[in-house]
Amino acid sequence: MLGGRTNHWGRYSFRNGPYDFKPKSRDGLGFDWPLSYEDVAPYYDKVEMLIGVYGDNNGLENTPDSPDGCLLPPPKPRISDLLMQNRAKGMGIPVVAAHRAVLTQRLDYNRLPAKLHPGNAFAQRIVSEAMQTRAACFWATPCGRGCSIRATYQSTTVHIPPAMASGNLDVLPNAMVREVTVNAQGKATGITIIDKTSGKERHASARVVVLAASACETVRILLNSRNAQFPQGVANSSGLVGKYIMDTVGSSLSAQIPLLESLPPYNDDGAGGAHIYAPWWLYKEQLAGKLNFPRGYHIEYGGGRAMPSASTGASMEWLTGGSYGRKFKEDARRYYGSFVSFSGRGDMIPNENSFCEIDPSKKDVWGIPVLRFHWKWSEHETRQAAHMQQTFADIISAMGGKVRGKPQLDGAKAIAQGGLIIHEVGGAIMGDNPSKSVTNQWCQTHDVKNLFLTDGAPFPSNADKNPTQTIMALAWRASDYIVSELKKGNL
Ligand SMILES: Cc1cc2nc3c(=O)[nH]c(=O)nc-3n(C[C@H](O)[C@H](O)[C@H](O)COP(=O)(O)OP(=O)(O)OC[C@H]3O[C@@H](n4cnc5c(N)ncnc54)[C@H](O)[C@@H]3O)c2cc1C
Ligand code: SF4
Repeated sequence: MLGGRTNHWGRYSFRNGPYDFKPKSRDGLGFDWPLSYEDVAPYYDKVEMLIGVYGDNNGLENTPDSPDGCLLPPPKPRISDLLMQNRAKGMGIPVVAAHRAVLTQRLDYNRLPAKLHPGNAFAQRIVSEAMQTRAACFWATPCGRGCSIRATYQSTTVHIPPAMASGNLDVLPNAMVREVTVNAQGKATGITIIDKTSGKERHASARVVVLAASACETVRILLNSRNAQFPQGVANSSGLVGKYIMDTVGSSLSAQIPLLESLPPYNDDGAGGAHIYAPWWLYKEQLAGKLNFPRGYHIEYGGGRAMPSASTGASMEWLTGGSYGRKFKEDARRYYGSFVSFSGRGDMIPNENSFCEIDPSKKDVWGIPVLRFHWKWSEHETRQAAHMQQTFADIISAMGGKVRGKPQLDGAKAIAQGGLIIHEVGGAIMGDNPSKSVTNQWCQTHDVKNLFLTDGAPFPSNADKNPTQTIMALAWRASDYIVSELKKGNL
């Protein structure tokens, strides 16, 4: 899909915190990144200014504040948000404005482009023009289908139009990349693609090849790029391509809150997604060894009185037993808006048992070998999932609510299947040592100097923070590095 999954993502846009880049130094598990929060922070600033992220600064541990002028004002909390915030506060859980890539006001197209592209009048002009095409959210429609007024960030409306306007971008639709080609000197020369309309093979040559096909697909392309020089796949002298794939730890619980019943009807749609969330709050307890798992999670919270859907009636059957006619209407008015949901999103530590490799026999419709996956959660994650369930149940109880079903305190059963949260990262992890990593801190492969991976593949850990803003910040940082290396004649 042109523009990838940002066309329909959830738009949670978080910064990793300083601990998230040095997890091994804190608890001895997994890997440290070969860079620090300070290295990435200027790019987080730029990403926020370019795409438009609402949120605010709360001075919380490992939950970085943004400099003035980066964030847009958050939408006001919904009624159900205020209740949850109030009750969670009593339990010591901070509930603050969510950070999401939705415009709550128009971007300042006079000020921001100069901050994003200092000294580059041409880039400033095309970015300013693209910013002017985006309106602020009018709180009325389901954003999951994309936003026709361009209030949400998606790459099809934010990155691609100015890139097209630059005259430097050719989009080749229906071009399925199969492999990276390399020359005798071990430099990448381009990519081989299958034209999906004709099934024919084509080649595109390049001075620099950047793969950003999403973490696992980038791994697949590397592993499928085999030749005499790279019999294990391009950039895979370490044997680590495909290893240490990660997802986010996920577990959910929903409930009904009698206090929210029978409220008068009003428009509470908001920015088509969460207005608040709870960042991880138990860093100190964890450091003191008071928890039985090493890494944290944040809570994504759902509630409110958004436009009803066909399933709204069905979602209250567990309370009504399936009412009908007049009673159904009364029940709908009573219960509508009183349902809430909690989703934990937690840190996964890379492990040896979670990896992908080329399937020896299966191919896709274009004749390209596919991946097969191996997955195992460790106790670090399953215990975290059990903690999520207990926390959600406690908050629901503090809200005077009824849990739908019951909390699953067996973490191995509570945890979502690997891959289900769709935050896949890793598979070509970054590091300083070429025998223990695939890329360096610039997303540049150790083996092939003019080959870069700018999706989640180089992540050596998966913090609880949803990964996309970090993917974008690292991609921007890698791009600046590519330009400077090209100017020096190093690529
Ligand atoms: C429903 C949903 C909700 C999500 N919510 C959030 C969220 O709230 N916050 C968050 O941080 N993340 C979220 N994510 C994850 C987020 O979408 C991804 O992290 C992000 O899109 C990754 O960007 P990417 O460019 O690496 O990959 P993608 O967005 O997947 O883009 C890869 C692109 O490469 C193309 N491609 C793939 N293979 C080939 C090939 N062989 N040849 C040619 N082209 C190819 C694809 O068509 C696509 O255009 C969500 C994902 C989904 C699906
Ligand atoms: S609610 Fe969502 S789709 Fe509707 S205008 Fe706002 S951001 Fe766009």
